[in-house]
Formats: sequence, C-alpha cells, structure tokens
Amino acid sequence: MKILVINCGSSSLKYQFIDMENEEVIAKGLAERIGIEGSVLKHQPKDMDKVTIERPMPTHREALQTVVDALKDKEYGVIKDMGEITAVGHRVVHAGEKFAYSVPLNDDVMNALKECINLAPLHNPPNIMGIEACKQIMPDVPMVGVFDTAFHQTMSKKAYIYPIPYEYYEKYRVRRYGFHGTSHKYVAERAAAMLGKPLSEIKVITCHLGNGASITAVMNGKSVDTSMGFTPLEGLAMGTRSGNIDPAIIKFLMEKENIDINEVDKILNKKSGVLGISGVSSDFRDIEEAADSGNERAQLALEVYIHNVKKFIGAYAAVMNGVDAIVFTAGLGENSATMRSSICKDMSFLGVELDEAKNNVRGKETDLSKDGSKVRVLLVPTNEELMIARDTMKLVSK
Ligand code: ADP
Repeated sequence: MKILVINCGSSSLKYQFIDMENEEVIAKGLAERIGIEGSVLKHQPKDMDKVTIERPMPTHREALQTVVDALKDKEYGVIKDMGEITAVGHRVVHAGEKFAYSVPLNDDVMNALKECINLAPLHNPPNIMGIEACKQIMPDVPMVGVFDTAFHQTMSKKAYIYPIPYEYYEKYRVRRYGFHGTSHKYVAERAAAMLGKPLSEIKVITCHLGNGASITAVMNGKSVDTSMGFTPLEGLAMGTRSGNIDPAIIKFLMEKENIDINEVDKILNKKSGVLGISGVSSDFRDIEEAADSGNERAQLALEVYIHNVKKFIGAYAAVMNGVDAIVFTAGLGENSATMRSSICKDMSFLGVELDEAKNNVRGKETDLSKDGSKVRVLLVPTNEELMIARDTMKLVSK
C-alpha cells in the first residue's frame, strides 16, 4: 500500500509518497509560488537527484497535477500509473470541535471543514483547496483528513474554557483548541517506546519548538493541556509570534501608535516573538550567532524564550502531578543543543538531569538524560507525514 501525504499552504504544497510496507519515503517534494509568477516544483525521488520543474501553477490544482506528473514521470518518477496511489492523507489545520480523530473526507466532512474557516481563516482555505484539487484529479482515490486540532480534543473543559463571558463559547465556540497535535501525538508515542512503557501509563511533556512552537501535557496518552489556544498565537514566544501577553497591551498600542486592530494583529503575528525582541531575525540560528558575538537584545530574546518554555514545563508538571519524560522536537528542539541545555538547567527540583555529552546530538532519537535522572529528557525528531500516512492506511483498510 502506497500513501500520498499532502500539506497545502496558501502558496505552497508539500508532499510525501510513502510505501507503507516499510514506511519508506519513495518521493517527496515541495511546490512553491502557487498563484504567483515563477511557480516551481522541487521533486526528490528516493536514491535519485532532486529535480526542479518550472511550470505555471495558477492554483493548487495545477500544482497537484505537476506533482502527479512527476510521480509518474518515465525518467524520475516512482510509479507507473495512478492506480499505485492507494489513498491520499491530507493535513488539515482546524477541525473545530467536530473531529477528535482522522476521518474519510466525504461531503459532510468537507462541509464541516468549511464551517471551520472562520476559526482558521489563513490555514483552512488552502487545506480545502488542496483536497478539492485532489478529488478532481484523482476522483476514485480515497481521501482522509488528519487534523492538527484532533489530538487536543481530549482536553477537559477546565483546560479549554477561557475566563471570558461563557456566551462567547456558546455563540462562537471561542475556546482553546491547540495545534501541532499530530506532532505531539507522534513524539509522545515514541517517548513511550523509548521508555519501554505503555503510553497509557506515563506522563509526558512534549515541546514542539520550531518556527511556531507549542508545549503539550500528555497524560496516559491523552492531551490534557496545551499552550496554543483559540489560534496558534497563544502560548510561547515564537519566531515572530508574541505568545502570551497582557491583552490590555492591544488597546494601549492602538491608542499610542494610532494604529487599527489589523495592524496590531500583524505586529503580534509577524513582528513579535524573538524577532521582535532581538531585532535580528526570527531564525534561532541567526539569533544564537548574534548572541554569541555579544548582541544584548539577541541574548535577551533567547533568555525570554527559555524562561517561557521553563514556565510551561513547570506548569504542566503541576497539572499532571509529575512527569516521566520531557521531549524535544521540531527545528529548534531537534537541532539546538544549547537551547535544550539552557531549558533543562536548574530543573533538578523536578528530577531533570541532562547529560551534556549525550545532549551533543542533532536530529536523532536519543535519551539525553543522566543515568539516574528521575525525569528522562528525550530528543525525538517529529514525523507528521508518517503519522498522517498511518492514520490514512488505518481508515482505508477498514
Ligand atoms: P516550522 O514551524 O516552519 O515547521 P521547523 O520545525 O522547521 O519550523 O523549525 C524551524 C526553526 O528551527 C528555524 O527557524 C530555526 O529557528 C530552528 N533551527 C533549525 N535548525 C537549527 C539549528 N541548527 N540551531 C538552532 N535553531 C535551529
């Protein structure tokens, strides 16, 4: 069985084609600049050179057609005909309260996802466009939706209700949803395997630290709390997003700077986080470099970030009455030994003891803690595509 995994952004389409016999990626790639001048597909077949295909892609439909053509190409393709694509798994950001699990994408589900557009106006429309393009190009291939919000649907009301008038939850479903669910679930499952214990019996704090970042408390296999909220703006300070701030700052800035709410929204989403503090970059590599060469605001940005992550780890240990493992994943979590080390510093009260020698590693599943550490510190590279492919296979096999 071979599964195509699709992840559509507003002007991009990422894909992986996975052979589920051995869970090997047979081809993967990225179409960029969809809908604008200079559309291009970079296609990477396994054990072959990367191919760059330049072709006009006014919509996701042409982008997907280009992907299918690349997969079938005589020279650099990996299949002979479309029949070899057993099913397609689509990443969808927001399923609201409708779906706690992955589901086949029938008409009812599509309508439900369209109803969620107002909850995720930037993310759901391109996700839906990608699904519709797929249905046109491969009408007979089963499609499955895998949702970023689904894993967090196990949160209890006390974790997801905001302390604002309850009528806004009733009228508009304003509540905490949480994101990166597929990633948190995957790394929590790997953590259990690494500890040699069932996931249903352990307490894990999963730190997905990438461009966007979120932390989840996973207790007995269920998300009990997570740092992102109604939107992916809440929680940690991120590359360009503010994370938690005093909401009164919004009115204050609007008045002082004479700007409207859209401008404030842009500032909080695109100009804040470690970019906003450092003034250097949203990329932690640039900030770490600037900090090393003495840039004080870059140093401050890192300190604020680390302080933030520590606070969530402490809070979630309290929420779960303990923790067995802290897991680091995504771009920063997988690659920055200094960041992991700074976060775990001075957490011996909790039983966290990082082994600096073991921590000197990148992108490889590793137990980073000292032998006697009560809490294990784990590095687990995330693999959302594989998770989507597994869910898709399960549903198609039913
Ligand atoms: P996205 O949320 O876009 O999927 P990723 O998970 O790929 O992001 O994370 C990207 C971020 O990871 C980069 O912006 C960078 O800050 C960080 N990163 C990647 N490699 C390193 C590294 N070697 N050292 C420090 N930070 C890194």
